[in-house]
Amino acid sequence: MKNRSDTPDSLEVLQKKLAGFGEYSVRKTYYPELQQRLEDLRESEEFLKNIVDNIPAMVFVKDAVELRYVALNKAGEELLGYSREELLGKNDRDIFPEEQAAFFTRKDREVLERGDLLEIPEEMAKTRSGDDRILRVKKIPLFDNGGNARYLLGIAEDITDRKHLEEQLLQSQKMDAIGQLAGGVAHDFNNILMVIMGYGNMLSRDFALDSPQKEKLERIIEAADKAAQLTRSLLTFSRKQEIQTRVANLNDVVRQVQKFLVRIIGEDVQLTSQLDSTEPLVNIDSGQIEQVLVNLATNARDAMPKGGQLTIRTGLLDIDASFVQANGYGKPGRYALISISDSGIGMDEKTKSRIFEPFFTTKEVGKGTGLGMAIVYGIIKHHHGFINVYSEPQIGTTFRIYIPLIEMEQATDVEIFTSAPSKGGTESILVAEDDATVLTLTQEVLTSFGYTVIPAKDGQDAVEKFREHRDTVKLILMDIIMPQKNGKEAFYEIRLLDPDVKIIYFSGYTMDIIQGQGVFDEETELIMKPVQPLELLRKVRDLLDR
Ligand code: ADP
Ligand code: MG
Repeated sequence: MKNRSDTPDSLEVLQKKLAGFGEYSVRKTYYPELQQRLEDLRESEEFLKNIVDNIPAMVFVKDAVELRYVALNKAGEELLGYSREELLGKNDRDIFPEEQAAFFTRKDREVLERGDLLEIPEEMAKTRSGDDRILRVKKIPLFDNGGNARYLLGIAEDITDRKHLEEQLLQSQKMDAIGQLAGGVAHDFNNILMVIMGYGNMLSRDFALDSPQKEKLERIIEAADKAAQLTRSLLTFSRKQEIQTRVANLNDVVRQVQKFLVRIIGEDVQLTSQLDSTEPLVNIDSGQIEQVLVNLATNARDAMPKGGQLTIRTGLLDIDASFVQANGYGKPGRYALISISDSGIGMDEKTKSRIFEPFFTTKEVGKGTGLGMAIVYGIIKHHHGFINVYSEPQIGTTFRIYIPLIEMEQATDVEIFTSAPSKGGTESILVAEDDATVLTLTQEVLTSFGYTVIPAKDGQDAVEKFREHRDTVKLILMDIIMPQKNGKEAFYEIRLLDPDVKIIYFSGYTMDIIQGQGVFDEETELIMKPVQPLELLRKVRDLLDR
């Protein structure tokens, strides 16, 4: 490079000499020889330029005094989006945002002062189109014959994509670690809860307890019930929960959940769906995939407080080795794709990198649990699929979910499962639940599907409300654990008023645990908390029609 910076001088000198020779008679003798040398130099300059231009990294040269660009190779033009003509003669402040320019200048000065190569492992540079690229840069001072630094040579490699892959890998390792931890804790914690619940229930049947003691015991059991709901969410996230898969048409799942999504997102949000004409078959637990769509739509609604667009698409996608390499995730094969896009507030990079973590929320206390996306993540992983997110602040967010496709030939002998659509009704339903959020959710779901809901805040209230509305109430939804009177006691009294009334209980516990406690018989209908709205609607309709 030292030669290169000297080259213009030699050329100049040569040219001067040539011009000078014109005045002498010896011109004839020397002229052709000098012309040949000039030609050689041009060729060698062309040769060097060619090499520099073809180096697959950005190469630039700045003068040491004002730090203006004096050379830039082709890779540099491509990387920055500026042509040589635009860049040469300018310095960093003319081109880059202030902060970036200041950083580059500081490093340039450091190199020139130290007189030695400097490596900058990572720096950001904004390109002409506004992209931030991550560069790994080496800066080298170029000296003249007198040992003074005259130029600064820079070689920059664009490592944005590599960084991206590293982050992806770290992200998936992080999620695995969190999953392991959360799952392990939830699993052991659940066992502890069973003990608390078991002894609590035994004690509550003890007639020797006086009423204040009973009251306190109920608080304990209530708290254990809430804790059970929480551990259930964590078990879904960490994939410790069993899923029951069947072959289903993904479009059908979307079609069925759509009617419900419309109600979640409200009137100000416009829902459009574009379903793939091939009707993709997948092996899924439809209830869980519905849950995924519900969670995503709920977040989309929260991201669009002033209304907007929600779009659901399905499609097919072949994932090949190059996709996996480019994205850092996935396994080659054929996939069904669901994407959900909203035109909401979007997310910055920092939020985006954490959304799948359990308990990560940017919403106010009481508004968000931070479990929605964690559950989505767990469910998709459990289906051997994967999920990614694109988001732009103020523009919107798109989640893309890939689920392994089942080929038609494989699917011909199997029965394609379609879960019953969530139908509504006009009956009156008594809902007894002391947890206000569960009560409100249940009430909203049922009324938006046409039912009339009579709310009750505890067991005692339930008995009274039933007495009032016994002629119209066709079904009771009741929490097992409630203050005043628990679900079972309340139902016992209600049954004396009307032996035919139907009941569904809410619980954080699975049926086997409850039955193990000897509290209920086998026919007892149960809805697990956290309540899945579609399952709720199906169970309600199913029981009313029985
Ligand atoms: P929660 O909704 O209870 O906050 P989630 O796990 O469902 O918890 O979501 C975690 C966070 O991810 C949200 O608090 C929000 O910051 C972000 N998020 C999720 N979906 C979207 C979206 N569609 N648009 C913008 N931000 C979102
Ligand atoms: Mg959420």
